[in-house]
Amino acid sequence: MLKSDIVKNRVALITGASRGIGKAIAEALAKDGIDIAGVDINIDELRPAMKTIEDTVGRKTAAIQADVGDSASIERAVEESIRVFGNISILVNNAGITRDNLILRMKDKEWDDVLRINLTGTFNCTKVVIKSMVKNRYGRIISIASIVGAMGNIGQANYAASKAGIIGFTKSIAREYANRGITANGIAPGFIETDMTKGLPEDVRNTLINQIPMGRLGTPEDVANVVRFLASDEAAYITGQVIHVNGGMYM
Ligand code: NAP
Repeated sequence: MLKSDIVKNRVALITGASRGIGKAIAEALAKDGIDIAGVDINIDELRPAMKTIEDTVGRKTAAIQADVGDSASIERAVEESIRVFGNISILVNNAGITRDNLILRMKDKEWDDVLRINLTGTFNCTKVVIKSMVKNRYGRIISIASIVGAMGNIGQANYAASKAGIIGFTKSIAREYANRGITANGIAPGFIETDMTKGLPEDVRNTLINQIPMGRLGTPEDVANVVRFLASDEAAYITGQVIHVNGGMYM
């Protein structure tokens, strides 16, 4: 496939695409004319999410079950995406989990699971997808970090470490592949209205909002809009950056 065709027939592989921020990213990129390979561990939610995009936006989609923390599972998912679409021009590393606890109470499993899914998951997906991007001499890698990776947060040492890791990882990939037409950038959302933050007690939520100059939590679309920009041709000269989307909470 010629590079011009890859730019024309853009395909995004998005992890954690069945709900929350990943789903909003899938919808936003589809509206920009991009086909979507949705990857999620939860296929029952992923299938209807992808079908809605096909029905409402009219782009081709695929729903592929995989665990980002398992390299063999991701290799199969990427093979399947390439079989369906022919190439992957955009990778959005979005799947992520929290297992909050104070460090003295944090179980090894809580640490391991968060690092495996958030950080190793980003490594697994990038390593496999970048092979075809190198061949095509074109690619956009966008990884969802977090404000917590920059600020730290009580009860989230595992999550903060995983997200800070994504930032260092992104800058290294950006340097390694800048001369192959591949950009790698991160987005660090603040607190966004999704299932991940739905369980916050009312008082914690209000305390958080008081720390946000814009006076509200963000929406999944606030994050998706930045992904759209970083995936576009207009962002061709931006690499190794982390864009904060947090209503001014961290500057
Ligand atoms: P979410 O609503 O919990 O959705 C996460 C999605 O990832 C779910 O569909 C989940 O599947 C999937 N997933 C979990 N583990 C997976 C695995 N091993 N392999 C493949 N898919 C997996 O989360 P969100 O709030 O949209 O967050 C998306 C990303 O933004 C995460 O990386 C998160 O850390 C980051 N972020 C979120 C916020 C926030 O305030 N919400 C702030 C900063 C950063 P299941 O349905 O099976 O769980």
